[in-house]
Amino acid sequence: MPLVSVAVPVPSLDLLTYRVPEGLEAPEVGARVLVPLGNRRVTGIVVDAKPPVPGPSDGGQVAIRDLLDILDPEPFLPQTVVGLARWVADYYACGPGDALGAAMPPFAWVESEWRARITAAGEARLAALGAGGRRTLRDSALGLLTGASWVPVRSVAYRLEHLDGSRRGRIVPARALVRALQEEGLVEIEDVLTGQADAFKTIRVAAVTAAGLELLEPTSRKDTVASVGPKQREALAVLAGVPEGLPLSALRERGLSTDVVQRLASRGLVSLRRDQVDRDPFEAATFLPENGSAGDPAARELTPEQTTALERLQCLLAGGSFATALLHGVTGSGKTELYLRLTAAVRAAGRSALILVPEIGLTPALAGVFRAAFGDHVAIQHSGLSDGERYDQWQRIRRGEVDVVVGTRSAVFAPLRSVGLIIVDEEHDGSYKQEDTPRYHGRDVAVMRGKREDALVVLGSATPSIESYQNATTGRYEMVTMTRRVLDRPLAHVTIVNMRDEFAERGPDVVLSQPLLEGIAARLSRKEQVLVLLNRRGYATAVFCRQCAATIDCPNCSVSLTVHSGPRDTRRARCHYCNYSTVVPKTCPQCAAPYLDQAGFGTERVEREILAAFPSARVERLDRDTIRRRGAAAALLSRFGRAEIDVLVGTQMIAKGHDFPRVTLVGVVSADVGLGLADFRAAERTFQLLTQVVGRAGRGEEPGEAIIQTLYPGHYSIRHARRQDYRAFFDEELIFRRAMQYPPFVALTSGIVRGRSLAAAMEDAETIVGGLRQAGGRAGFLVLGPAPAPFVKLRGEHRAQFFIKGVRRATMREAVRKALEVQPELRRRVAIDVDPMTVL
Ligand code: ADP
Ligand code: ZN
Repeated sequence: MPLVSVAVPVPSLDLLTYRVPEGLEAPEVGARVLVPLGNRRVTGIVVDAKPPVPGPSDGGQVAIRDLLDILDPEPFLPQTVVGLARWVADYYACGPGDALGAAMPPFAWVESEWRARITAAGEARLAALGAGGRRTLRDSALGLLTGASWVPVRSVAYRLEHLDGSRRGRIVPARALVRALQEEGLVEIEDVLTGQADAFKTIRVAAVTAAGLELLEPTSRKDTVASVGPKQREALAVLAGVPEGLPLSALRERGLSTDVVQRLASRGLVSLRRDQVDRDPFEAATFLPENGSAGDPAARELTPEQTTALERLQCLLAGGSFATALLHGVTGSGKTELYLRLTAAVRAAGRSALILVPEIGLTPALAGVFRAAFGDHVAIQHSGLSDGERYDQWQRIRRGEVDVVVGTRSAVFAPLRSVGLIIVDEEHDGSYKQEDTPRYHGRDVAVMRGKREDALVVLGSATPSIESYQNATTGRYEMVTMTRRVLDRPLAHVTIVNMRDEFAERGPDVVLSQPLLEGIAARLSRKEQVLVLLNRRGYATAVFCRQCAATIDCPNCSVSLTVHSGPRDTRRARCHYCNYSTVVPKTCPQCAAPYLDQAGFGTERVEREILAAFPSARVERLDRDTIRRRGAAAALLSRFGRAEIDVLVGTQMIAKGHDFPRVTLVGVVSADVGLGLADFRAAERTFQLLTQVVGRAGRGEEPGEAIIQTLYPGHYSIRHARRQDYRAFFDEELIFRRAMQYPPFVALTSGIVRGRSLAAAMEDAETIVGGLRQAGGRAGFLVLGPAPAPFVKLRGEHRAQFFIKGVRRATMREAVRKALEVQPELRRRVAIDVDPMTVL
């Protein structure tokens, strides 16, 4: 009987082998199957249709069970995507189900759920128990099932775990309890499948009926006509012009409420129906910059530099085999234009294009540009979409209706056929790295996908990651460079303000320096726009007592709380890691002295200071606090684009690829925010952020200026950012990385072990590190630690950390796998991060 190898969505679980039962055709790789797992039924993905027969030495899975059902006659995920996900699981040391989970659209996992219902015998048992007295857990479970309806066992568990004070927080084996009750004949159990949610969006459409049309006739009876209000008559008239009907939303836009339509429907004058539609994520988010490169891509004449770059890339594309090119082009050099033309070329060759962007909420422009150029052939995929929208877009791609996908990180798994071109825009951006399992880097997975599909991969950036630039200088990647802005617009002129001088002159509370204030004043009087960056949210970054020096810290995390201003001048202190918040107290919780003070400042304070200095200016703020609502970022940016805002204050979000021609000044309030961190990428990130934000100035007719406030004007990341000299920064950074043995000279893997106490976390970490050291001696890698992690407590958990440094990833991976195999239950408390973006 044939066997299949299946990945199931259970964290860090290995592949499982199942038998295809008699009478079923063996499923194909990529098909979903329903399999038994313990006493559950779960969906899995077939990843191997001819696995080796597991021998007795494989341990673990003893008896091979039959799979229960085959959900897809054809592969649900394309084979290429299954293969890519398996590579991800291997490279990033996570379970195959974790990796495939990242490739699945919403609603794709079908799960079984137990429901229980009490029997007559059960009711009798409850009656016999009476009201008072102590009950066993099993009796309490039975008590929750009174009434004739089916109750999900999950909700029984939840209620037992949360409603009973003495048991609060303890895990209840609800399935086992219910099964025991079933054995006594007190309940019945049914097993239902959930997760097959309605996958389509429907809209309500109103159409005029014959009776409705008749009423509009001049010959209608006067009293009938009079019984219909003016709004209703208007609605009828509108609908009469569109016999196939109009969506209720379209009627609402004309001021005809759903109420009006419903009244007409109740009288039989209009009919209501539901139509199925694909959800179009562009409806909500499209935002085209006024001078965007929309329209016919062939219409515009390329600059000589663009022409040379395009020829080089097109030549690689025409080769039809795998290649990776780093497109290093300064901000405003016209990279988007090249992306469009390459995409047109790959489509003409009958293959498809995948365009990855860091965060669509912040750069809807690029998605809009592609949509304008290729219309319906474009699908977008990003986490800001609703599950339904994402599902629809995914299905369109899967059905082959589109050949261009623009999306964030997870779109690297888009089920496109025959990918010929992959573009990773702003390839250095940290948001390509997923910070929870599977901890993959979208750019690196993109390169691997390109390799597996013989595609051209283009990594675009004005400030490439050190890794990519190193790969380009050593010849692993092609280097394509553009050093000039289009139309020869000069790069912004940068001034560095040494804040030590400002403090000496104007006191230690200065937030905005004199040059920055003057710069803003000049822009306001000329009706030009200003961006002000501070990469730190909130009003103040710490609350401390002037008497005893105590600070107000998060009870769950080892960080101090950030002060945020609320409505009517209230102040709350909030944790940026776990979201704990409290009212800022009047007296010190330690010594009760009334001398609490606030220190440090964030974007809220900057916004307040600018408003104080320029009361009539239109100032807005863009950071994670102001864009919680979906679409808020795009709305704010589009208002800025229409010049309805004079000064936009924000975190690194304002540094992303926006193109605002009226911005002539960029201010950086504290360039050092990231420099103090004990992270080997601190200088790189600072350089990138400064260069990117400075690049936002002077993209229109007027030349740009940037003013950078810093306490360390001599730091190399600031000196080179000032001259926007990437190469000089790269050379200096490389010296540091080589001396300290950091990437790209070694491969780094970090491990975080969580525990109830630091001692417990350290003990577990010691166990793993011990296992690694045994392997390391021979395999040639170093194990560092364990040590308490920099954030030693986070969200209530204590954390220990260790690192592995080496040159051969494969041996490091193997050692990690072995070390964790020894104690499988440890796996759940350890987070392995291969190629971490940060070591904090
Ligand atoms: P980058 O992504 O490299 O920062 P963009 O692609 O956003 O730069 O281009 C900067 C600006 O120059 C955009 O407004 C774009 O429309 C415009 N542009 C690009 N190429 C040309 C060209 N060949 N001629 C005129 N304008 C161009
Ligand atoms: Zn916290």
